[in-house]
Amino acid sequence: MTAGEALERLRDGNRRFVSNQIADNASDARRRAELVAGQAPFAIVLGCSDSRVPAELVFDQGFGDLFVIRVAGNIVAPSQVGSVEFAAARFGTPLVVVMGHSQCGAVVAAFEEASGRATSQSRNLRSIVDRVRPAVDTVLASCGGHDADAVIREAVRANVRASVNHLRHGSELLEQLIQSNGLVVVGAEYSLETGVVDFFDGVPEA
Ligand SMILES: [Zn+2]
Repeated sequence: MTAGEALERLRDGNRRFVSNQIADNASDARRRAELVAGQAPFAIVLGCSDSRVPAELVFDQGFGDLFVIRVAGNIVAPSQVGSVEFAAARFGTPLVVVMGHSQCGAVVAAFEEASGRATSQSRNLRSIVDRVRPAVDTVLASCGGHDADAVIREAVRANVRASVNHLRHGSELLEQLIQSNGLVVVGAEYSLETGVVDFFDGVPEA
């Protein structure tokens, strides 16, 4: 499967999800048994841990279809890069999707911190917020931050772009797969309001 075909499959699944025409692929015991021998996921999804954004459901996919990494704020730290490298190299998965979402709590936390309204207490939580901060700071620098909702909307996308760039350029292995094997990394945003996933960054021409 090519990256373009994988992307179409995700788009089709999201259309089914949005229109409430979900395929019967979730809990098939036979499919589960087939997968005991091995997996060949067609897409890698790096998404947020938010309980409202489960990748398999919003793309209407079943067992064995997606290799999913979830972490608050869909940030890219070394273990996320390693997980993507593992799946891309081991299974030849052609597509990586970084998926942010509207009203992301990690982005809101980074925005509150940037505007002096809150600071995160725990060192562990801070390690997440620190990775989101540059995206928020960039948006604040360009638009001033008078409209908090607009800043957060923009920062969600800036944060996705930052993660996409990190995956594209922060790993020799991934860079090599992109150059020689047709691996594609795209950025997307899931809308809590509509259920629609908008692929807005790095989508290859059809
Ligand atoms: Zn989130």
